[in-house]
Amino acid sequence: MSKHTHAFQAEVKQILHLVTHSLYSNKEIFLRELISNASDACDKLRFEALDDAALYEDQPNLEVRVFFDAEAKTLTIRDNGIGMSADEAASHLGTIAKSGTREFMAKLKDDEKAGEQKKDANLIGQFGVGFYSGFIVADRITVETRRAGWPHDKGVRWSSEGTGEFEIEDIQRANRGTDVILHLRDEEAEEFLKTWKLKSIISKYSDHISLPILMNKEEWDADKQQQVTKDEWETVNKAAALWARAKSDITDAEYQAFYQQISYDTEPPLAYTHNRVEGRSEYTQLLYVPAKAPFDLWNRDKRGGVKLYVKRVFIMDDAEALMPVYLRFVKGVIDSADLPLNVSRELLQESRDVKAIREGSTKRVLGMLEALADSESAEDKAKYQRFWNEFGAVLKEGIGEDFQNRERLAKLYRFASTHADEGVSFADYVSRMKEGQEVIYVITGDSLAAAKASPQLEIFKKKGIEVLLLIDRVDEWMLSHLYEFEGKSLQSVAKGAVDLGKLQDEEEKKQAEVAAEAFKPTLDKLKAALKDRAKDVRVTTRLVDSPACVVVDEGDMSGHLARMLKQAGQ
Ligand code: ADP
Ligand code: MG
Repeated sequence: MSKHTHAFQAEVKQILHLVTHSLYSNKEIFLRELISNASDACDKLRFEALDDAALYEDQPNLEVRVFFDAEAKTLTIRDNGIGMSADEAASHLGTIAKSGTREFMAKLKDDEKAGEQKKDANLIGQFGVGFYSGFIVADRITVETRRAGWPHDKGVRWSSEGTGEFEIEDIQRANRGTDVILHLRDEEAEEFLKTWKLKSIISKYSDHISLPILMNKEEWDADKQQQVTKDEWETVNKAAALWARAKSDITDAEYQAFYQQISYDTEPPLAYTHNRVEGRSEYTQLLYVPAKAPFDLWNRDKRGGVKLYVKRVFIMDDAEALMPVYLRFVKGVIDSADLPLNVSRELLQESRDVKAIREGSTKRVLGMLEALADSESAEDKAKYQRFWNEFGAVLKEGIGEDFQNRERLAKLYRFASTHADEGVSFADYVSRMKEGQEVIYVITGDSLAAAKASPQLEIFKKKGIEVLLLIDRVDEWMLSHLYEFEGKSLQSVAKGAVDLGKLQDEEEKKQAEVAAEAFKPTLDKLKAALKDRAKDVRVTTRLVDSPACVVVDEGDMSGHLARMLKQAGQ
């Protein structure tokens, strides 16, 4: 029997420090984290046991038990899930392997460099704080575990005070699975070692864990005049997967609680949709649109936020094949009745059932957004604008990715224009088009102020013609995929000789011709002087106050795009 001391990976020390200090005001979440790990461990066992039923040993019922010893001041979270080998305990409880957590740490370091000391609670909420959150309330954690299917003498005890190091030793352990034993500090023992308190935290955060969470029964003892703990166990959570229950039985508060449980978002979602789909492919979907963008929204490699279940058995987190990349902000659960339980990420990419699920889910999400955008209620409209401010730029990626839904997507897009600083849809624009106007005029720019100040807008302002101001970085890219809306083409006012078509009266056309003739000598001189720098110099009627402006040829890169590429070093 050997006992070894190991040092935590440097990042773990940082996480420990951060978690214990910044989350102290919200310390009860430790229980949610540890129960969620226990539940994950049971999911993993169920999954591995598909190939090897012997892993169940003599305990086929997966469950989590929560119990305490008020005298010893210990609280134990026990599961009969997959358990850990000594190597797994050392690596899973001593290092940080998850890419999300690494990114998170990197972001925090950036903030620190930038002198921002505020450890944004929201940011912390966006990643699971995990096992180490136990140290918010405990000054020592002991983990006793044995991996399913391994001999009883291959048990492991992991123990740490959550400072620099942890110890690992071999133990005998008959029970498969893991006990996480928290040695609570006095103050926390006082607060948490009460059955009613623990029950209320469990129902707040862990009601929808699909396993039973058991606690000892308590009874009023008339002689002693107090509650006494009995040897019997009772289930204290609902233990039914929320999405599998009938819609009519689920309250809004339950939907919200479930969202917080899967997303770690501190804010309620903007909208959600819950459906059972039958037909060619059978599945249940419960999908949420968050109110706030996560810090890593721009990482297109980041997997999506949708968990895949097959007939209530958890298969994988972040199943990116279930949602198009441009909807990577959607969170939720999809439970399929058709997929095989041993489906892999690779198989998912090719499966026709998955394709049907992805198409169906995309339509649902777009429908949810349309319901907000087109709603009569001012509250919904405001919600949609909020959504747009957070996620609009990502939704614009869809125009090049999702040919099937491009019309629906274009209708959901919102812009600034010379008419309003935000919230202008193509439909709004079209409804305000002037008599005789055939195209949708747009201009791109780095900022609202820059776009508004563009001299190329002068003639449009003078004539009261609206121009869309496209100021997102993705807009140039979007324009290369979106040429028209309901038959009206999009035309950049910064390109070519803007053809005002029927909007220009005869008088103006004549003036332009006369001016071109009169200024020919001047133009020739300018052309000669700018020989290597300008393709052409011509007289224009598009300016009202400015003497001159630079435009690019139809089909050439716009000045804005050229500047962006130059900035990016291309
Ligand atoms: P996460 O759950 O997001 O992976 P945690 O910090 O909560 O991160 O847990 C780290 C890892 O420790 C888990 O991924 C798992 O491998 C292991 N682990 C934690 N608790 C248990 C448990 N009760 N049973 C088995 N493994 C566990
Ligand atoms: Mg966890």
